[in-house]
Amino acid sequence: MVMICMRQLKVLRTEELTDQICIIVGTRPGIIKFSPIIRELEERKKPFFVLHTGQHYSYEMDKLFFEELILPQPKHRVQHVNLAQYHGEQTAKMLEGIEEALLKEKPKLVLVGGDANTNLAGALAARKLHIYLGHIEAGLRSGDWRMPEEHNRIIIDRISDFLFAPTEESRKNLVEDNAKGKVFVTGNTIVDAVVQNAAIARTKSEIKERLGLRGESHFLLTLHREENIDFKENLASILEGIELVAEAFDSKIIFPIHPRTKKRISYFELDRFISGIKELVVIDPIGYLDFLALLESSNLVLTDSGGIQEESCILRIPCVTLRDSTERPETVQVGSNAVAGTQSESILDKAKTMFSVKRDWKNPFGTNVSRKIVEIVKSELAL
Ligand code: UDP
Repeated sequence: MVMICMRQLKVLRTEELTDQICIIVGTRPGIIKFSPIIRELEERKKPFFVLHTGQHYSYEMDKLFFEELILPQPKHRVQHVNLAQYHGEQTAKMLEGIEEALLKEKPKLVLVGGDANTNLAGALAARKLHIYLGHIEAGLRSGDWRMPEEHNRIIIDRISDFLFAPTEESRKNLVEDNAKGKVFVTGNTIVDAVVQNAAIARTKSEIKERLGLRGESHFLLTLHREENIDFKENLASILEGIELVAEAFDSKIIFPIHPRTKKRISYFELDRFISGIKELVVIDPIGYLDFLALLESSNLVLTDSGGIQEESCILRIPCVTLRDSTERPETVQVGSNAVAGTQSESILDKAKTMFSVKRDWKNPFGTNVSRKIVEIVKSELAL
């Protein structure tokens, strides 16, 4: 604060900017999706630093990924964000902390990735200070205006200088939305993250032994979207759907439960599903290597996650999306994903369809994506 008052200008002048790149992370998927970009920058010895917004803060949602993916510790970490209850409050706390760090470091470029509040705060902070802004995973649209992620995507895309669209479909969304920045179709960095870590996961992960899954087939379940878990009727309906799937397939369903979902199930007194479905194996959130190992050996994944729709597509595991829409329509087009909605019968129906689907689709999310993005940054900003 003091620093801002002492400056005459509320923005940074171009000549003040250093050659540094600031990578903004703060959530589990953001850390995973930025890991190959960070690796690429390290290999090329580019000056960069990591700024952590503090949105995710528990060991298993945050630090575990820095350890597993061998990432440099954040140079700056915004404090007290965990105390925020509402989206605006959380975004405001992050925005203030990010601005303070950016004023100290004066990077030439801020990179945000994805659609969490972390990225909105990072994007606003950069834009307001006149620092170049790049959005990785630009142009995704679900059309579902209930989703905080959809608000964030649209705002971030609108104010970014460089838009790294994963696919032609996302590029079209940016054109339709009249985005002002330069658009590059690069693919999605999740491909690099999967390629770099799946082989390690195969040899290192012991999760299947720990869960007693010796060769047995299993399904995987994740659930955390606000529009699903913050409304009792939606959450109950999805859990009823999972119960139907468990009965129909007689297959273990591994459920690494998101901390917020755990709280909601208890708050809405829906614990009977957790204790009552005998095939359901509820575990704490797991690291990336364990998650990839479980995903790769699954017969089916049921999820409302964005990243997992992509990873299952890349690893050729059929996916049922527990939402009314997807911002990853490419997965549906290639045949790896079916959007089930949240009605229990529909979840069972889609699970049956996807269980027997032929797994011969092609990955629509590109290859060597991080290298392409770093090359573009180099040529656009001479960094
Ligand atoms: N993931 C993980 N451990 C888990 C659950 C998920 O490592 O217990 C990874 C998963 O592989 C994917 C990412 O977390 O890369 C997805 O995060 P999430 O579903 O929370 O967010 P979204 O992708 O929906 O933004």
